[in-house]
Amino acid sequence: MDVYDNIKKSLEKVSIFMNLKQEEIDLLLKHKWINHDIIELKGKKFDCWRIVHSNALGPGKGGIRYHENVSLDEVKSLSFWMSLKNSLAGLPYGGGKGGIRFNPKEYSEEELEKISREYIRKFHNYIGQDIDIPAPDVYTNSQIMGWMLDEFEKIKGHHEPGMITGKPIELGGIKIRGDATSKGGLIVLKKFLLQKNIDEKTIRVAIQGFGNAGNNIAKMLCDDGVKVIAVSDSKGGIIEPNGLDIIKIKKLKDEGKSVQDYNAKKITNEELLELDVDVLVLAALENQITSENCEKIKCKYILELANGPVSADADSILSRRGIIVIPDILANAGGVVVSYFEWCQNKVGNLFEEEFLLRKLEEIMSNSFNKVYELWLENKDKLDMRQAAYVIAIKRILEAERARGNL
Ligand code: NAD
Repeated sequence: MDVYDNIKKSLEKVSIFMNLKQEEIDLLLKHKWINHDIIELKGKKFDCWRIVHSNALGPGKGGIRYHENVSLDEVKSLSFWMSLKNSLAGLPYGGGKGGIRFNPKEYSEEELEKISREYIRKFHNYIGQDIDIPAPDVYTNSQIMGWMLDEFEKIKGHHEPGMITGKPIELGGIKIRGDATSKGGLIVLKKFLLQKNIDEKTIRVAIQGFGNAGNNIAKMLCDDGVKVIAVSDSKGGIIEPNGLDIIKIKKLKDEGKSVQDYNAKKITNEELLELDVDVLVLAALENQITSENCEKIKCKYILELANGPVSADADSILSRRGIIVIPDILANAGGVVVSYFEWCQNKVGNLFEEEFLLRKLEEIMSNSFNKVYELWLENKDKLDMRQAAYVIAIKRILEAERARGNL
């Protein structure tokens, strides 16, 4: 099933709970603009997109993904989730997302630079600090944001660092952006465990995906004395019941190797998902737990650092089986919250103290968690935690649309 069909499905229950009118549902499912183009390099053609789902609360905001499976359906879905995520966190942003359909691992640094600059040449009229603000996502990083900023400023003939976030520090980036998604996820997970009276030192964790989101949360959990017993990347996973040495695994990854090059028992990605752990962190791609495998999932709690890793069908089955999902739009908002700090700094030309920003991140993530958890507790028979988060996020978007006279 297409991911966007999944979104429509998950919206059904929420709209009944919220008593939404058809025109409100139609507005929520409609994208503000969808831009598609083709990038050509050495005779090869790559589809690329930049999409804004909503700009009711502010400019579009969301990452750019480089992956061979990027599609219209995927970018539409990711931009929808960005609208909800930004709304839930109380940020002055709508939702946007972009992507290029190709495998970046097959291209040199020089070719990646050409492709990234070309992306900006295709879409610069629809990007800007008050229009739509990209950031890194899967297989994109701060260097790519740097090339994109440079290309944008060359075209426009003026400086505008706020047009993109997650960029190098020298170009107006922010130091704490690197591991902000994981930091935010950890804040939410800790608050959740506290509510459940669970001592974090006693839990066992498995993590799917060992990129920015996955490896940083693995390290943070280990630093806090939590046992991370299994991790994986696109090649497969590894398991060590006494806990993995995350620092050593990260070193291997930095050398361009796979987690499977670490000396531990190898497992498949499917096996990792089915491990009997307390917390399963999903930090790779969407649709990893679906109706196909959700009956085999044995963990107690799922923390979604990835966007959309659990399908709508799987959500209901997991919920029936008592497995609680801490949803993406809540759990992985730390990255965009810090992107917002970066954008604020760029816009006002000021520098904020790191300590202040970390406190602000904690405050925003905690507030979002408290709101979602409270609504979920009050309505456990009607909503799962994802739906509770959707209700809060959608309410704010619709209020903005109403205030604009669009409803
Ligand atoms: P990344 O490119 O840094 O890492 C992706 C990781 O997933 C890599 O380790 C890759 O090997 C692994 N992977 C790919 N396919 C896999 C598979 N089938 N099974 C297991 N692992 C697989 O990307 P990232 O920034 O860490 O993003 C991961 C997820 O988190 C995405 O869904 C992204 O949208 C979401 N996210 C990231 C951020 C952020 O700030 N980085 C913010 C919000 C959400």
